[in-house]
Amino acid sequence: MSNLEKASRLVNEENNYYARSSRINYYDLVIDHAHDATLVDVDGNHYIDLLASASAINVGHTNARVVKAISDQAQKLIHYTPAYFHHVPGIELAKRLAEIAPGNSPKMVSFGNSGSDANDAIIKFSRAYTGRQYIVSYMGSYHGSTYGSQTLSGTSLNMTRKIGPMLPSVVHVPYPDLYRRYSGESEHDVAMRYFDAFKAPFESFLPADETACVLIEPIQGDGGIVKAPEEYMQLVYKFCHDNGILFAVDEVNQGLGRTGKMWGIQQYQNIEPDLMSVGKSLASGMPLSAVIGKKEVMQSLDAPAHLFTTSGNPVCSAASLATLDVIRDDHLAEKSAKDGAYAKQRFLDMQKKHPLIGDVRMWGLNGGIELVKDRDTKEPANDAATKVIYYAFDHGVVIITLAGNILRFQPPLVIPRKQLDQALQVLDDAFTAVENGSVSLPKDTGKIGW
Ligand code: PMP
Repeated sequence: MSNLEKASRLVNEENNYYARSSRINYYDLVIDHAHDATLVDVDGNHYIDLLASASAINVGHTNARVVKAISDQAQKLIHYTPAYFHHVPGIELAKRLAEIAPGNSPKMVSFGNSGSDANDAIIKFSRAYTGRQYIVSYMGSYHGSTYGSQTLSGTSLNMTRKIGPMLPSVVHVPYPDLYRRYSGESEHDVAMRYFDAFKAPFESFLPADETACVLIEPIQGDGGIVKAPEEYMQLVYKFCHDNGILFAVDEVNQGLGRTGKMWGIQQYQNIEPDLMSVGKSLASGMPLSAVIGKKEVMQSLDAPAHLFTTSGNPVCSAASLATLDVIRDDHLAEKSAKDGAYAKQRFLDMQKKHPLIGDVRMWGLNGGIELVKDRDTKEPANDAATKVIYYAFDHGVVIITLAGNILRFQPPLVIPRKQLDQALQVLDDAFTAVENGSVSLPKDTGKIGW
């Protein structure tokens, strides 16, 4: 029996009870335990995890310092609602996050349970502070699954059909795409064309003086690991500043060392966001999120404007403090930059021999490898990408696709070089096998991705 068949026994059973609203279809993997960059399934098969940013594990699975912090705190105090009283890990964490956020202005923090609610908080704080209602976010973005954050998400626009109406007064603008630029366009041309597109709503129906904030991912994660040009980001930042619009960034996917810097927005020069959302790896997958903002903005709301019974839970806060210690002490942002540069070069070498690879994008251990049928037309190679991820899974590497044809390369930042090399070799072999036509998919894979 193949790995896929064994796991599918359990998955078939689960399918009777687990609603489809929260599971995106890929291959069947039932994880039993994990450490560092290794996943072990219920049948004892080992896999190298290339999906850790999605699963919120920058410092590696079951990191010893994080596990100890969780266990020590759980023995002292598992929870008390933050609504009325204080606890030590929460106090320490708020101070720590305020201190390490980019820029020099004093910051404050409001905790939640998920990246989604942190992005809802951005809507709330920016509206309260500015007294304005409109929010600008991006096509191709993903910000979460609450009504607010789902409305902000460009990737969830089709949700309107089943669960609309969504939140009013949210306007989506296109995110710059350097790969699919017009022929002959320079990076500057792309920046200007997309900045024109950004300004277009303001020049027709959207009053700048009624706009509360612009929310942007420094690098679009679920949108395919796409980074805006520096010039574009600076123009939008300045536009916001000139018009009293708050500049907010979503660091849920790209923060905490992932891009090779502590924060994704530090991939750009001298930008200090007014508001920033953090989650996922913040507490190594324990449910914790935060919105970190300039002090005056964060003082615009009183409880219970953004308050959940379990927000800033002490065990999650302790896990987060340990996670931040590990990132700092083990120099994981630097490691991400170094290993990311290495992996990028390996993919660029593969691109020379595999026509399937249209584009290699990588900042830190954070890559999008875009597969195309033809390098000139750039037609997405969705079937080939699906075959690559199934081949990889069968050869001990867990990786998924974004937007159907983009491989999402985000291993835990602690991944040892040996495993990184193994994973890269499997992907190289997968490209060869798929190009040779020697990979076939199991029947009934269904629609892959969303
Ligand atoms: N923002 C970004 C950029 C994300 O990638 C995600 C999760 N994929 C979220 C927000 C939502 O976070 P959560 O799933 O914890 O609500």
